[in-house]
Amino acid sequence: MRAAVTEAVGAVALLDRAEPPQPGAGEVLLTPEAVGICGSDYHFFLGELSDEAGGSQFPRVLGHEVGARIAALGPGCREDLAVGQLVALWPLIACGHCYPCSVERPNTCDNFKLIGIHLDGGLQQQLVADQAQVFSIDVDSASVAAMVEPLSVAVQAVRRAAVQADEHVVIFGAGPIGQCICLVARAYGARVLVVDTQPNRLPLSAQLGADTLVWTTAEQVIADARRWAGPGGAPVVFDATGAAAAVAAMVEIVASAGRAVQVGMSNQAVSLRLGILTEKEIDLLGSCCCDSSGFAEAVRIAEQQADALTRMISHEFPLERFPEAMQFAIDNPTEVMKVVIR
Ligand SMILES: [Zn+2]
Ligand SMILES: [Zn+2]
Repeated sequence: MRAAVTEAVGAVALLDRAEPPQPGAGEVLLTPEAVGICGSDYHFFLGELSDEAGGSQFPRVLGHEVGARIAALGPGCREDLAVGQLVALWPLIACGHCYPCSVERPNTCDNFKLIGIHLDGGLQQQLVADQAQVFSIDVDSASVAAMVEPLSVAVQAVRRAAVQADEHVVIFGAGPIGQCICLVARAYGARVLVVDTQPNRLPLSAQLGADTLVWTTAEQVIADARRWAGPGGAPVVFDATGAAAAVAAMVEIVASAGRAVQVGMSNQAVSLRLGILTEKEIDLLGSCCCDSSGFAEAVRIAEQQADALTRMISHEFPLERFPEAMQFAIDNPTEVMKVVIR
């Protein structure tokens, strides 16, 4: 079978690899049909992934945003799984015995492994996964199934913030994760303002029912966001950029007693006046990927919002053109929303 193997920093090759064995008890043999490429894949490819995030270990088959068909089932699989069924892959495998696992936060497991980062992922013609990683989904498109994973990151962020209907929510960053947070917050009935430096990314947010704002200067954005949310600021603000200036603005814009949630991955440092945390008593929260219930919720939302998720896919490439797709995505950040490999 063909596999796109990242062999070293910046080096990917299409190789023939042995097909996986037949699935064992509780395992599922998958044929990936659509695999989304995301920011963490770029970081992995460029050797920029922090050691805390798992670093870059070669050789690796990337692909953690996977829409697949079930090709075969091992003995003892759940009844909702059937050969030919379209599924989304929950890529997280937690250890079950560390502190975060013991308090039911497996998505922050000290020993966690992500299929497609720490283990070989979806950019190959066949893949075996435990049935716990496999969620059946009732949509027509494997690309929509692949979008469940970024959507699940947004579900986790919105859950961390406990967003309520009619609350004012500001989102920095209109890339795929910012758009997915917008989609989930809108699905829960929030009022949303999306801010980005790139005006061409904002019409997609407007189609999801958000108001939009182009980042000009921090001062201007803070003033405009306060005008939008009310003088007290917004009860909920998300950063989906990882840019220090946006994080500083997030802490300014969030209302007293509000929630500020860091979603964008970043190696940047940000300087904050600490008094702002005590004076406003804000909850400054980090958000990672999601647990199995969050993934199930993402499947449910994806089934209802398949058209919106389809609009986020800007480019599709066949597996054989993955090296070119990766370079294209890295070289054209303003043009690319979500690249999907078919
Ligand atoms: Zn991703
Ligand atoms: Zn653990």
